[in-house]
Amino acid sequence: MFDSIKLKYECPFCNKELEYTLKQLQKGRILKCPHCGKEIQLEESVSGSVQKMENEVKDSLENIPKKVTMK
Ligand SMILES: [Zn+2]
Repeated sequence: MFDSIKLKYECPFCNKELEYTLKQLQKGRILKCPHCGKEIQLEESVSGSVQKMENEVKDSLENIPKKVTMK
């Protein structure tokens, strides 16, 4: 389900804002910019921050049931 979460990513060539899903932003993936047509190889820093965000989303989702039962 996290694969369908969309993230904004700026094209390093034309600086246009692109939207990709988490699945597309995995390490080592090559994305093609729809605006300038250049291929973007994702760096480790990008996938690292994606991974961090994914963990934060998971944490917040895991906390929801706890909050509900705390009532
Ligand atoms: Zn571009």
